[in-house]
Amino acid sequence: MSTVVAIDGPAGAGKSTVARLVAARLDYSYINTGSLYRALAYAAKASGIAFDMITPEFLNSCHLEFRGADLYLNDAKLDAELRLPDCARGASIISAKPFVRDYLMPVQRNAARGQWIVMEGRDIGTVVFPDAEKKFFVTASVEERARRRMAQGNEVDCGATFESILADITARDERDMNRAVAPLKQADDAILIDTTGLSIDEVVDRITALC
Ligand code: C5P
Repeated sequence: MSTVVAIDGPAGAGKSTVARLVAARLDYSYINTGSLYRALAYAAKASGIAFDMITPEFLNSCHLEFRGADLYLNDAKLDAELRLPDCARGASIISAKPFVRDYLMPVQRNAARGQWIVMEGRDIGTVVFPDAEKKFFVTASVEERARRRMAQGNEVDCGATFESILADITARDERDMNRAVAPLKQADDAILIDTTGLSIDEVVDRITALC
């Protein structure tokens, strides 16, 4: 048995920061499921395999496991490498493959087993935990998300401009929302939180109050 708060939403909406803070306030565990897809992109790149060429056999060579909120790939802890722009892009390509999603489903469900947990991603409230106790869909306008990325300077290519970041986020939105399996969408019973113009604290307050 687990108690799950699902936080889904598009790239750059501030989900990770918010989800981590909500988990801390509620004294729940925290899992970022995007890191699983990023880890596979990282593994593919490290093995010289193009993102759209990965195979089920390749996945079998990738043992992914959460130890607390930390993610391990074949017993090596992953961290900063997951934030590379290439891993984000690769994750979005890899995640469209049904066999990848099937492979990661038990990893996500096992990570939540027996826990009170805040889990963030794209399909947590729709597919991974459709019976989650609370579901939130956290979003912001694409321009606001690009502005935040630009200001933080994280996950952006060297020499990136506002326009290139906007194009990158728009492309990821397109891929995530239009894939055939588990596309990014708000669950019918999820509460919509539009963070445009809100501070992180305001968003965290709003979500924890609703929990
Ligand atoms: O959340 P994050 O930006 O780390 O996710 C990276 C990519 O992984 C997303 O663009 C999406 O394609 C994929 N993803 C997914 N399902 C999830 C979490 C992430 O498809 N639950």
